[in-house]
Amino acid sequence: MKNIKDYNLEELKQELVDLGEKPFRAEQIFKWLYQEKVKTFDEMTNISLELREKLKQNYTMCNFNILKKQVSKDGTIKYLFDVLDGNAIETVLMSYHHGYSICVSSQIGCKMGCKFCASTGINFIRNLTSGEIVEQILAVEQDENLRISNVVFMGIGEPLDNYDNVINTIHILNNQKGLSIGARHISISTSGLVPKIYKLAEENIPCTLSISLHATTNEKRSKMMPVNDAYPIEELIQSCKDYIAKTNRRISFEYALAKDNNDNLEDAKGLVKLLKGMLCHVNLIPINKIENGAYTKSSNEHIMKFRDYLNDNGIVATIRRELGSDIDAACGQLRRKNLKQ
Ligand code: SF4
Repeated sequence: MKNIKDYNLEELKQELVDLGEKPFRAEQIFKWLYQEKVKTFDEMTNISLELREKLKQNYTMCNFNILKKQVSKDGTIKYLFDVLDGNAIETVLMSYHHGYSICVSSQIGCKMGCKFCASTGINFIRNLTSGEIVEQILAVEQDENLRISNVVFMGIGEPLDNYDNVINTIHILNNQKGLSIGARHISISTSGLVPKIYKLAEENIPCTLSISLHATTNEKRSKMMPVNDAYPIEELIQSCKDYIAKTNRRISFEYALAKDNNDNLEDAKGLVKLLKGMLCHVNLIPINKIENGAYTKSSNEHIMKFRDYLNDNGIVATIRRELGSDIDAACGQLRRKNLKQ
């Protein structure tokens, strides 16, 4: 059966027309789904019984079940959701002074094989549909009775490898009759799928683009991120420069510091050389140690020195606050643990 949350408003209008209904019914349904956050068609009380029956016969509501929930001392909450086909995905809720932010998964598993990621070793199973991405937000809002203001595509999966569904999800999130989360409050993080970065630049969506860079030489980056063999640093940086030129939007570069790997002065110099003059920001991430992972976290002293070097040389860099360090906060960790049980 079709998932009613897979459709953006325009598509839902067409679905309603195909059912022999007036298109404005789609707006009513959107409101029930995303503003009232109902879990059944029967709760859509301004819709006729006849239409409710038609909806029940043709669509599911895709309400996720919570398989596991971990709450960190700092308020970060990690969910493992049952996506109703035997698979499980992770979603993380983070609390900031400016509101609640959610880190959503875009795929079940991932093809990219980044060596520092807990999802590595979990085979790619399938893309999540738009409705399954949206449902992560609804399920968390319902469970915690709060409103999410920021969405980051940084959970399990490479969002640009599930391009169409991710873009459609953004249209659903953006809609003022829906969740009304502005594109400026949405970030897409990519391991560096160059052709998709060019494609994203052509969409008129002012979301934030984050690039997982993590190294400044192809030799080092390929060891950490096999995707670099397909799209080496020079091509990646050129696509970022073109993206900035086209959109006039600042790019965020993610750089996870791993002890004795990419955290020395030479690496910092390489980063300055690579990013000099670009409209960008660098997020330095104390790497999360994963079970059997090859990398360990740099010392705080190293991380601060690295940041200071970048800032002193014209690159705006900040150290990302570590959230959920007492729970399985690195993407894939919760799912990985549960798969073993
Ligand atoms: S870091 Fe992201 S892109 Fe890389 S393997 Fe993990 S989920 Fe995939």
